[in-house]
Amino acid sequence: MTDIEELLLSRIRDVADYPEPGVMFKDITPLLADPAAFTALTDALAEIATNAGATKIVGLEARGFILGAPVAVRAGLGFIPVRKAGKLPGATLRQAYDLEYGSAEIEVHAEDLVASDRVLIVDDVLATGGTAEAAIQLIQRAGAEIAGLAVLMELGFLAGRARLEPALGGAPLEALLQV
Ligand code: AMP
Repeated sequence: MTDIEELLLSRIRDVADYPEPGVMFKDITPLLADPAAFTALTDALAEIATNAGATKIVGLEARGFILGAPVAVRAGLGFIPVRKAGKLPGATLRQAYDLEYGSAEIEVHAEDLVASDRVLIVDDVLATGGTAEAAIQLIQRAGAEIAGLAVLMELGFLAGRARLEPALGGAPLEALLQV
């Protein structure tokens, strides 16, 4: 493990049985509170964005906003929020996806993406991949291309990577940490 990976991992707190029994929640607030760790994370994700040839960063509500916005600034790119349905005031595209119990919807402002865009999606944790899959579909429906998906941590046992492979179509899935 590299020094940066060790630093990042040391600043993520495991919270058992949150928000429900059986879930080990990965709390990134200690990392955000540590400027050295937050800067190292931002730099690592910005390097992925540059290497992927991204023209825009999409952050997934809510922790993808906290990570994605400084990455966009650092990489010199625009930031676009993908929000839970009903939060964006303008004309949106909406995508439904299944949760373990029930379903959810996410939205993006349609005018924020153009066909020439190459989008890097940023989030904190990749679990089942359901949220990221819906975001990929949303971005593709807007006519833009997927440059990749970058996350702080991938929960490998939930097999999100395999689920996302068809949707990513060869675009990279970069996880700074694997569990
Ligand atoms: P999924 O759609 O299953 O990949 O879930 C991804 C979203 O849920 C991400 O936006 C994460 O922030 C959040 N999430 C899922 N599982 C966890 C976990 N164990 N710890 C922290 N966040 C999680």
